[in-house]
Amino acid sequence: MFHKQFSIALLSLFFVLSGCEKAQNTSETQKASETQMTEKSQDLVIYSSRNEQLILPLIEAYQKETGTKVRFVTDKPEPLIEKIKAEGELTPADILMTVDAGNLWRASQAGLFQTLNSPVLEKAIPANFRATNNEWFGFSQRARTIVYSTDRVSPEKLSTYEDLANSNWKGKLCLRTSKKVYNQSLVAMLIAKHGVEKTEGLVKSLVSNLATDPFSNDTKTMEAILAGQCDVAIVNSYYFGRMQKKDPDLGLKLFWPNQSAQADELSGVHVNVSGAGVLQHAKNPENAKHFMEWMTGSQAQTILAKGNMEYPVVGSAENDPLVASWGGFTSDSQSLTKAGELQAEAVKLMDRAGYR
Ligand code: FE
Repeated sequence: MFHKQFSIALLSLFFVLSGCEKAQNTSETQKASETQMTEKSQDLVIYSSRNEQLILPLIEAYQKETGTKVRFVTDKPEPLIEKIKAEGELTPADILMTVDAGNLWRASQAGLFQTLNSPVLEKAIPANFRATNNEWFGFSQRARTIVYSTDRVSPEKLSTYEDLANSNWKGKLCLRTSKKVYNQSLVAMLIAKHGVEKTEGLVKSLVSNLATDPFSNDTKTMEAILAGQCDVAIVNSYYFGRMQKKDPDLGLKLFWPNQSAQADELSGVHVNVSGAGVLQHAKNPENAKHFMEWMTGSQAQTILAKGNMEYPVVGSAENDPLVASWGGFTSDSQSLTKAGELQAEAVKLMDRAGYR
């Protein structure tokens, strides 16, 4: 409300300062100019769990192209969701941008998003990378895949996520904590494929294959392989990319699992998304929709994919050359909405299976 009043005050000041010519306008033209001014003074506010380094080039490109002034706030997903809830109708935010379908789904469940009917988004983004209720949309893909020690594992020994539950990996597997949404989503997608009972058996076996307690992040998990604590792990490929960029001779390699998977296995690499939704109480819903649609353009897609060594959701964008060097892969085709719907089930299952 204050913001609106402030804009009106600014608008009046503009008309005073712009002098006689404006003052002599008919009320109709004045109304038209006022509308135009209001539109120009309107901006776009984004709450983002993606860091400033990644989001800034996107926002600068958007501002340059459209003249829309974009403001943003960055924080972790959970505090941002809580902030939007607490602000309620008064939130200044128009868009929540975050990672993982599990987080986007949580925001959707909390009633934070509005449905966005956009033929542009529906055409550009594959159906499995956006919410079935049109409340959130994925803008980049992140692959959660297998990484292995080049000293101790021959890639012929690797095949699927499910195979890591096999006893020949006993004492050789490292995992990140089950508290991380990335693993909750992966297990949710396994439940979607196999059902609860079989997935619980798989997760129990994965836990019994662990070389050591789960790690707090993907980088530490890979460092454990380098330190000789374990031979294989499951990580997001961009964390591997960061390590490989620092040390091209890293004793680790990525493996794309489930590429010729049987009917009872995931149908390809588990990919998740980073994405966004327009908030229920957005003050600038038109700008927000325009920004969301702009995010599927090749400029935004390239910035997003290259900025964090992820993959675009739209085919025309370029990958980072290092990412391209890892080769292509088939990804699991199940809808990521299931990562949300089955999240609570996945959390309970991992708890029962002793995955900490
Ligand atoms: Fe991450």
